[in-house]
Amino acid sequence: MTKIAVFPGSFDPFTVGHESIVKRSADLFDEIVIAIGVNSAKQGFFPVEQRKRWITELFANYPMVRVETFEGLTVNYCQSLGAKYILRGLRTAADFEYERMIAQLNQTMMPDIETILMLTYPEHSMVSSSIVREILRNGGDVSKFIPAGMKIN
Ligand code: ADP
Repeated sequence: MTKIAVFPGSFDPFTVGHESIVKRSADLFDEIVIAIGVNSAKQGFFPVEQRKRWITELFANYPMVRVETFEGLTVNYCQSLGAKYILRGLRTAADFEYERMIAQLNQTMMPDIETILMLTYPEHSMVSSSIVREILRNGGDVSKFIPAGMKIN
């Protein structure tokens, strides 16, 4: 059976931390769906279509990676795709507590779906989309925190 993992997130914007998690887990699954969660009541910093375009271009040479948007519960979205795995990244103890709660809730709702938590590389543990947004708002250089080749102006 095809092993499909969903990597859900806001990716507003996608960072080197996200990129690393996807690339390191590429050998574990047959397909990875990077799924941008869309909340119609909440506008992000970057438009969803822009986020999707950046990530799609980044993984253009990875046929097993695709980028989608979704609304609603991650487990329902996984079920609609036949995905048995949810992939998430861990940076800190605070991440762990949050991810533990979400993973256990998801497991209670859908016991067939496993959450796989991948520990970040130490050099990415301080990188977050919110920090990138903060640097951008203040006119700083974010090039070390976003994937090479991703053009943010
Ligand atoms: P969300 O709003 O769902 O937390 P994010 O886009 O912020 O979405 O993050 C998506 C996933 O990527 C989360 O599991 C988050 O912990 C993980 N992540 C974010 N930044 C990093 C990083 N620097 N290294 C590893 N994982 C990360």
